Amino acid sequence: MNGTGRAARCSICSQLAAQESAYQKYGWAEGDTHLPGAAYRLVIVKDLKPNSDRKLQLQQCPECGTYYEHKTDYEYLVNGTEDEQHLARLSDEEAGEYLQA
Ligand SMILES: [Zn+2]
Repeated sequence: MNGTGRAARCSICSQLAAQESAYQKYGWAEGDTHLPGAAYRLVIVKDLKPNSDRKLQLQQCPECGTYYEHKTDYEYLVNGTEDEQHLARLSDEEAGEYLQA
């Protein structure tokens, strides 16, 4: 079974698109976006940049086992920061590469 079919029947993954992004820009709160609540139910399997402020994590759905890549980024500005979060669904092959990394 491929990851997409499995995810479509999962109560968590069915609320997540294959790619999700969110941004929070300083001084523009009305333009802020956030990842869907379901994204926060994923569990961290592997932290690939444990010493970095910019995260790169392999996450997994606790219900169906689908893997996701969770990345964060930010920029320091004179008057604050801009933050980004990205979530991408992975195939089992892609997740396997992360697990071996
Ligand atoms: Zn799932």
